[in-house]
Amino acid sequence: MTTPADQTQTGGSTPIGEEALRAARVLHPDDNFMPRPSKRRILTVANQKGGVGKTTSTVNLAAGLALHGVKTLVIDLDPQGNASTAVDVDHRSGTPSVYEMLIGEVSVVDAAQVSSQSENLLCVPATIDLAGAEIELVSMQSRESRLKEALSEEVLEQLDVDYVFIDCPPSLGLLTVNALVAAHEVLIPIQCEYYALEGLGQLLSNIELVQKHLNRTLSVSTILLTMYDGRTKLADQVTQEVQNHFGEVVLKTIIPRSVKVSEAPGYGQTVLAFDPGSRGAMSYLDAARELAERGVEGK
Ligand code: ATP
Ligand code: MG
Repeated sequence: MTTPADQTQTGGSTPIGEEALRAARVLHPDDNFMPRPSKRRILTVANQKGGVGKTTSTVNLAAGLALHGVKTLVIDLDPQGNASTAVDVDHRSGTPSVYEMLIGEVSVVDAAQVSSQSENLLCVPATIDLAGAEIELVSMQSRESRLKEALSEEVLEQLDVDYVFIDCPPSLGLLTVNALVAAHEVLIPIQCEYYALEGLGQLLSNIELVQKHLNRTLSVSTILLTMYDGRTKLADQVTQEVQNHFGEVVLKTIIPRSVKVSEAPGYGQTVLAFDPGSRGAMSYLDAARELAERGVEGK
């Protein structure tokens, strides 16, 4: 006869045993490392619609890669500072941040902090000073490409990061334009809900404008469906519609709506650190692996 304790030890058929196994996969990856990309990847996470999972996706994909041996930098480009909170880096006013980077006062090497969650996870925080940047930038020289200049190959080489994720605010203003100019790829999170596709046309046409005038090689490489609620028919319809429309670009992994995902930032953590065995953590880990595998040439 097997007791519940035996089942847990053997990797068990009890829900708790399975959860423990899943958590172990997240926290002790050992030989389960994710592939490093053939070339450094800079991804801008953008969608001007608010609350679709930009920040949650940024920090959890970044944490998934970092925990599996891939050095990753998060740039918090949103004055709300939510990404800085989730990876637990100091973002009080006066801390060297993305604002000082944009005005050319500090280098990314000086502004990047190491997250307590993984030594492979770095973050340039956003402080409240960023709130005025959208307006201040207007009168600055090369106002659209200041972030690109701050993220030159040479300085990123010094940090030795394989991935850079830029978390955008919910607008199409100058901060988002800076992110689109600085990146190689755009990752668009889409919430599996009614009105999900509304406004997407506007985002895509802004991306086209940036491609045409400021960043020829920019591509929409990744779409991630978020907050999927299997109980609603609508979630399936949205999923289907997005997959039909965007095809291969859509990651196969879909992020479910999960309470743990929404609780994690309250503890200054990603869901991968907060509850590594949860469904939310596993799905972000799967999405990170899919993203990493796509970054290897020949795959
Ligand atoms: P903003 O446009 O304000 O920057 P955002 O697009 O960055 O928002 P998030 O902050 O990531 O969106 O998510 C919006 C809210 O939804 C947050 O409270 C977050 O915790 C919650 N949330 C995100 N993903 C999930 C999920 N998979 N399950 C449950 N809640 C989620
Ligand atoms: Mg956000």
